[in-house]
Amino acid sequence: DDENLICIGCGATIQSDDPNKIGYTPKSAIQKGLDNNELYCQRCFRLRHYNEIAPVSLTDDDFLRLLNQIRDANALIVYVVDIFDFNGSIIPGLHRFVGDNPVLLVGNKEDLLPRSLRRTKLTDWMRQQTNANGIRPVDVTLVSAKKNHQISSLLELIEKHRGKRDVYVVGVTNVGKSTLINQIIRQTTGVQELITTSRFPGTTLDKIEIPLDDGKQLVDTPGIIHPDQMAHVLPADALKYVAPQKEIKPRTFQLNEQQTIFLGGVARFDYVRGDRNGIVAYFDNNLNLHRTKLENADAFYDKHVGGLLTPPGENELNDFPELERHEFHLEQKSDLVIEGLGWITVPGNTTIAGWAPKGVSVIVRRAMI
Ligand code: GDP
Repeated sequence: DDENLICIGCGATIQSDDPNKIGYTPKSAIQKGLDNNELYCQRCFRLRHYNEIAPVSLTDDDFLRLLNQIRDANALIVYVVDIFDFNGSIIPGLHRFVGDNPVLLVGNKEDLLPRSLRRTKLTDWMRQQTNANGIRPVDVTLVSAKKNHQISSLLELIEKHRGKRDVYVVGVTNVGKSTLINQIIRQTTGVQELITTSRFPGTTLDKIEIPLDDGKQLVDTPGIIHPDQMAHVLPADALKYVAPQKEIKPRTFQLNEQQTIFLGGVARFDYVRGDRNGIVAYFDNNLNLHRTKLENADAFYDKHVGGLLTPPGENELNDFPELERHEFHLEQKSDLVIEGLGWITVPGNTTIAGWAPKGVSVIVRRAMI
């Protein structure tokens, strides 16, 4: 009988029926926990052993609680974004809760950028975008959490800007915040498995507190689920295309107007009007790029999505959203960014359209290369 068992991390009643409800613990783990005199629910277990914090949803009370916690803190805010998904990385309303706290903007996944891309161009753009969202970062920097690039210099920047404050690390899910926190833990404490704090349901939020030299804390906060991310739209087995493993190699196409390039079946680029031009695509090296005539493109997509044009796979078509069209006239050389997937560099004096699953942003920016 499980009824009287309680998680020693959060105090929730242990149950094995509903993985989505508080106190869930697989049956096999209950006996193990009892044997070791250390019974945790699955959520607290993961938090303690893997530094995994359960994410919060934009519509949750937990989300507001998180923002309030940030507002009430006297802290340096380390705001982690995915440089391949800037819009999908934005925490709505964060600017209202930052208050007087300084913000350090960290662009993650730098390892994927082509070598030819000038890093300062990207950080300038990130700064502009952040300003447009009402936040003025004290510094902008790029790291690769996965490859452990620039983590030491990030730690130096944190020391420089925090003064005597605590440090709060915030970010939406999928930007690589957990990977980054684990690198930070490794570098600051030398410990692989730091024992982390847990929570009481409904009272405080999960957080991971890493002690800093002067008795202050570096606090990891729950990841926030941002529904408008390519990562949420794609079937699980297609996620590799939004989390490329290797530096992206540019692919060049000589295009005439009225030609289309399909990006697998997840997105599409139409060259509507302009001279014959070289356009350069920056996507995961394994994403299949397929050229066709614009006039046939709709029919081509209907016929081949899930087959020749994949992802999505044949069995995933039912859950896959329709592509939505976004048209732009470009005065000068620009990047058409399909958020979370990559971008296409197009010369000026052209009219183009980008298609992406409904909800995923398609934007134009000054060309980065
Ligand atoms: P979180 O949801 O923000 O905590 O994100 P995770 O740390 O779980 O990372 C999300 C995905 O991005 C995983 O597939 C990671 O392997 C990948 N990832 C994280 N950091 C990097 C990075 O610096 N470079 C690359 N290429 N991938 C990364």
